[in-house]
Amino acid sequence: MYTMDYFSTRGGAERVSSAAAILKGLASDGGLFVPASFPQMPLSAIEELAGLSYEERAVRILRLFLTDYTEEEIEGCVRRAYSHTFDDVRRAPVTSVGELEVLELWHGPTSAFKDMALQLLPQLMSTARVKQGEKDTILILVATSGDTGKAALEGFADAEGIRIMVFYPDGGVSPIQGLQMVTQAGENVRVVAVRGNFDDAQRGVKEIFGDAAMAAELAAAHTKLSSANSINWGRLVPQIVYYFSAYADLLAAQKIQAGDAVNFTVPTGNFGNILAGYYAKRMGLPVGKLVCASNENNVLTDFLRRGIYDRRRPFYQTMSPSMDILVSSNLERLLYHLTEDTAQVAAWMRELAENGTYDASGLLPVLRENFWAAFTSDMMTEEEIRIVCERTSYTLDTHTAVAYRVAEDYRCETGDMRPMIVLSTASPYKFGASVLQALGKDTDGLDEFTLMERLQKHSGMPIPTRLAALRTAPVRHKEVCEKDGMRDAVLDFARSV
Ligand SMILES: *Cc1c(COP(=O)(O)O)cnc(C)c1O
Repeated sequence: MYTMDYFSTRGGAERVSSAAAILKGLASDGGLFVPASFPQMPLSAIEELAGLSYEERAVRILRLFLTDYTEEEIEGCVRRAYSHTFDDVRRAPVTSVGELEVLELWHGPTSAFKDMALQLLPQLMSTARVKQGEKDTILILVATSGDTGKAALEGFADAEGIRIMVFYPDGGVSPIQGLQMVTQAGENVRVVAVRGNFDDAQRGVKEIFGDAAMAAELAAAHTKLSSANSINWGRLVPQIVYYFSAYADLLAAQKIQAGDAVNFTVPTGNFGNILAGYYAKRMGLPVGKLVCASNENNVLTDFLRRGIYDRRRPFYQTMSPSMDILVSSNLERLLYHLTEDTAQVAAWMRELAENGTYDASGLLPVLRENFWAAFTSDMMTEEEIRIVCERTSYTLDTHTAVAYRVAEDYRCETGDMRPMIVLSTASPYKFGASVLQALGKDTDGLDEFTLMERLQKHSGMPIPTRLAALRTAPVRHKEVCEKDGMRDAVLDFARSV
């Protein structure tokens, strides 16, 4: 038996277990925890996955990384995460849509892909808290562009020894996303709107994590901070599972032979989802290209094509709001894995913080070997939803439509016709108004629930029960704060009993 250690992308000396990395969230030097190596899944082990359930597949992958958890602990965490909360027994089914395969990651309680990770993370964290002998309350701070917040609230509500506080951009999330958050029940939760955009909220949270005076004040209230954002290792590791699971499903359906390479297209914001695909590839999954799909906030398209990251550009609010991001936190992990040079990563991150840009063009050959990137405008996204619906009767959500379009562009431009799996990150019901407008339906003056009914008539897909229930759910959270008021809001919550 081997042990997997974790250390910081920025070179701090600490080496920790996976339980410690998951409990802390961010390394002491502000870097992200990465595993010391990539455990290998030989082809024979991948073939075995074809005959297993999603939960069993998850255990096979997770145990390679969570070496300080017992197999029983991992099994318990996985069972509690997925067995009762998902509305499809396959958890993450693959469906053929036209020429492409669509991996549906939205059968969890909030109808978006964040559930895949955020149902499991609280389980891993509660177990870690006990394993590490932690007595203080863990306070989870989340900055969200919409989906993470609700998925985290849903996962952490009433978790033992843990409280959760969510900041979202005021007016920067969809009406349904907003409703999902402000109606959240649970003794241990607080939800606050920030006057600013997602990057403001994310920066505020990052600053609080790096603030020593704040840590001391929180310690006096017997509280330690942790993160459920996609920078937490416990968010990333569950996502590796569904890349293997999708491959196993194609094997089981005899759409591919063991060893055949497949491509994935991923609608990308913080780079967490697609990075999990890169991990899967490094572990031995036969992956050709990882195609990175963006909306008009196309900072990643430019980076993967030119090697220069430049966040100094206008910020657009698009119809795929969960990808409206200019600083993709998880890219830092990729930079580390490509260079294995923590000093270089720390220098790039310093340049990004100080100048808003850095030059990693030396990495272009290896970036191009693994990734391809493109973006769509809102107009192209709408057109894609309509065309795919006409051709296949399948209704894409706005984020998935970005990816579907970019996947087609990839095939067209490169001629690479290997099987393409498009990651579908949200149910169309989550962005009902945008989807209906794309389909040419009049939505003027209709409330969210009438929109759901219209969409049901049109798509034939059942309305997720938890979304329908929002109609009568009481609003529990009304707090709004300024960008520089987040610190005080956190202290207020920590000191309240
Ligand atoms: C979060 C999210 C994304 C982007 O995922 P990242 O891991 O941040 O790249 C895409 N689509 C939806 C619906 C999301 O909620």
